[in-house]
Amino acid sequence: MYIFLLFLPSLQGFQTFLFFNNIKMILPIIGYGDPVLRKVGEAVSEDYPNLKETIVNMFDTMYNAYGVGLAAPQIGLPIRIFVIDTTPFSDDEDLSKDEQTELKSFKKTFINAKMLVEEGEEWGFNEGCLSIPEVREDVFRNEKITIEYLDEDFNKKTESFDGLIARVIQHEYDHIEGILFTDKISSLKKRLIKNKLQNIMEGKTRPDYKMKFLVKKGR
Ligand SMILES: [Zn+2]
Repeated sequence: MYIFLLFLPSLQGFQTFLFFNNIKMILPIIGYGDPVLRKVGEAVSEDYPNLKETIVNMFDTMYNAYGVGLAAPQIGLPIRIFVIDTTPFSDDEDLSKDEQTELKSFKKTFINAKMLVEEGEEWGFNEGCLSIPEVREDVFRNEKITIEYLDEDFNKKTESFDGLIARVIQHEYDHIEGILFTDKISSLKKRLIKNKLQNIMEGKTRPDYKMKFLVKKGR
């Protein structure tokens, strides 16, 4: 109890307390309409406050919502970080054994990512987003990417990915550029989901995870 009180005066101390005591911090996911989702994320330095804790919290928040990726703007931070764990996709029996194995172990943090190349044929996949619950649309993206990024220990990497892993990276990378998957659909489909998006902005949606909306309920 005393330790708890000692840490209370600052949020930074509180986060550190949770981190070292292995207590999960599930953060509310920012809903469609909030301007933070439209900002181009800023690069982070190694001394960004609570960087390790922030990354752990992002993974915990993503797992809690059964997502495969989460970008920092989705927890209200306009910075260039996203996390990915494609394990849930590995059950798909339409995929080859190799793809299943790759998806099962793909867990990565991308810091200050820069997309270098997007190439290959565009293919459609039904995407969703934790910030836009109950909306799913086919999005067309190139099949292969090459991306430069820093891992969570700030080691610089340049890697190429294809298939579903590339797809998830492209979706998350868009988030740190202020782009949402709903920007990439036809104008007809945009019109069809307009009301759904409006409802999300007003908090009229009930996902089974905690969210924060632009317009508070009851107003
Ligand atoms: Zn998303």
